[in-house]
Amino acid sequence: MIKANDPLLSSWIEVPGNSDFPIQNIPFGIIRPKGKDSRPATRIGNMAIDLSALCDAGYLNDLDLDDLSVFYAPVLNDFISLGKPVWQAVRQKLSGLFNVNNNDLKDDEGTLKLALYSVDEVEMMLPVQVGDYTDFYSSIEHATNVGIMFRDPANALLPNWKHIPVGYHGRSSSIVVSGTDIHRPKGQTKADDADAPVFGPSRLFDFELEMAFIAGKKTALGERITTAEAEDAIFGMLLFNDLSVRDIQKWEYVPLGPFLSKSFGSVVSPWIVTLDALEPFRVKGPRQDPPVLDYLKYTGHKNIDIKLEVSIQPEGREENIVSNSNYKYMYWNMAQQLAHQTVNGCNINVGDMYGSGTISGPTPDSYGSMLELSWKGTKPLKLSDGSERKFILDNDAIIMRGHTEKDGVRVGFGEVIVKVLPAK
Ligand code: CA
Repeated sequence: MIKANDPLLSSWIEVPGNSDFPIQNIPFGIIRPKGKDSRPATRIGNMAIDLSALCDAGYLNDLDLDDLSVFYAPVLNDFISLGKPVWQAVRQKLSGLFNVNNNDLKDDEGTLKLALYSVDEVEMMLPVQVGDYTDFYSSIEHATNVGIMFRDPANALLPNWKHIPVGYHGRSSSIVVSGTDIHRPKGQTKADDADAPVFGPSRLFDFELEMAFIAGKKTALGERITTAEAEDAIFGMLLFNDLSVRDIQKWEYVPLGPFLSKSFGSVVSPWIVTLDALEPFRVKGPRQDPPVLDYLKYTGHKNIDIKLEVSIQPEGREENIVSNSNYKYMYWNMAQQLAHQTVNGCNINVGDMYGSGTISGPTPDSYGSMLELSWKGTKPLKLSDGSERKFILDNDAIIMRGHTEKDGVRVGFGEVIVKVLPAK
């Protein structure tokens, strides 16, 4: 059997040359076709494929699943709960159905009419119900930049940083899908030279370029996941824009960390790309020195070469790419993050989300936030319409994209877009 991520595969669905969604990808998402309920889907090229319609027509019967209701659910949690062998079997099945050499579904016009939609025709929904959400801080370049700006350039990293994948528990209720508009939040801020705080719209609206992974396993309280087990407990990955307002953050974060400065909207891309689809694109991670404690040690290549970009698009104007980064720069990998999350016995649930932390690269054009790109507002970015940005202005759209490429196959995430509306 040819594996679903084999570079030689091709589909009878047309895949444009620069598409993130060849037959090797087969991501999972939730679509809402006009006048219908939300339902699970995959995507090839520019077609969204309704899995409930394929199920109705009997194409998923030979998967031998006890309960086919997972293909009709409004979120992917129940499907993900079935476990990695089922995710793999479904991808393999879909890979076969859409293979260029298989005419079974291709010639079944009745089913195609019900199952295939142009991606422009469907609304993309939040793919999972996120129970718990953790955000890590795992890019050494980002942590170093922030340390230089706010603390001591000579001791930019705090003493724990190379020993612990530092993270905090975030807010899941405000995680939304790409395309959701977000109002500039109001809150408390205090200028350095002011005696007291004031209430009003944040002035320092920022993005954080991140990726996130979705847990695919439920554990019991007291159970640990080792670095060797971690990847079987991860369903797949998304692009993640961890919107942050720096002025509110600066005043509130002492001593317990970010609170309202990050819970007004955190935006994910709609298609979850499985680790199986990303398998061919693994690369070696950075050397970890000093050596990490035993429970954080790992073997194999755990980083992934995912090219990331961020654009700012002022209303009615063209996009300006302001950052080119890469997920491969991460100091701490997903396996270590999940091992650390559970080392104290903290239980996890299917659908939990884990953000990577802002992904900055080594050069100033690869930084993953405006805070770093404009260096706290001291180096404004010039956009193509002549305007400048220290931070994000009202009616700007922030667009993040990510893809990986090897042996002529490009697998990607599409985009995550959010428009910033004035405070209300
Ligand atoms: Ca973050």
